[in-house]
Amino acid sequence: MVRLWKGLFTFEPVMKRIIIAIDGYSSCGKSTLAKALAKSLHYAYVDTGAMYRAVTLYFLNNNVDINNREAVKDALQHIEIHFERTKTGNHTFLNDVDVENEIRTMRISEMVSPVSTISEVRRFLVAQQQKMGKRKGIVMDGRDIGTVVFPNAELKIFLTADTNIRTQRRFDELASKGQPTDFEAVKRNLLERDMIDSNRADSPLRQADDAILIDNSDLTPSEQLEKVLNMVHEFEMV
Ligand code: C5P
Repeated sequence: MVRLWKGLFTFEPVMKRIIIAIDGYSSCGKSTLAKALAKSLHYAYVDTGAMYRAVTLYFLNNNVDINNREAVKDALQHIEIHFERTKTGNHTFLNDVDVENEIRTMRISEMVSPVSTISEVRRFLVAQQQKMGKRKGIVMDGRDIGTVVFPNAELKIFLTADTNIRTQRRFDELASKGQPTDFEAVKRNLLERDMIDSNRADSPLRQADDAILIDNSDLTPSEQLEKVLNMVHEFEMV
């Protein structure tokens, strides 16, 4: 029985707070699901892709040579990333500057996977992510959450979807932000990132043995949310 009771006399149930790890390929709707889950469960949400994107932005803006380990290590010491809730949602801050829009551009998408192969970068970000999950009650999405960041997460989801559907979703997202681009260029970028992310030596993208696979090609965001909320409630009832 993991259902705890808040006070002796109130009988208000306090649900067990867990860690939910969501991994999967690029543009599979991980953040849509993670945000909706966090909102519905009153959990914290952490978009780890945004952290890799912010590091990439810093490296590009400061001409850091990613093949020079010393330069990378030195640059990491000057990077502080945090999230803030704003009127338009959760925003990513790099050294106190709101970089939410900039990190979603194709300029960053084209460089982020090579940057994410660097072990020093991964160690730097994974340590921060693990700290954020200390108190549980968190939904984190990325590529290595269920395998490396939180191998003991109570619930692990691995998302996948048809490539053309994923491309269309990312294409629509970029267009809605006033960043029109070409469908084939978006598709090439998704496939290239998946290839680099799945084949890198350090923490490659893969489904954890105990992760639940969901193909959301034919699911609406609310159907997907309902499916996962049912899984979460099973945990709360154990
Ligand atoms: O989630 P998003 O597509 O924004 O992630 C951008 C890139 O960051 C991924 O393609 C991957 O190279 C890297 N990433 C990673 N590990 C994570 C999250 C993202 O390597 N946990």
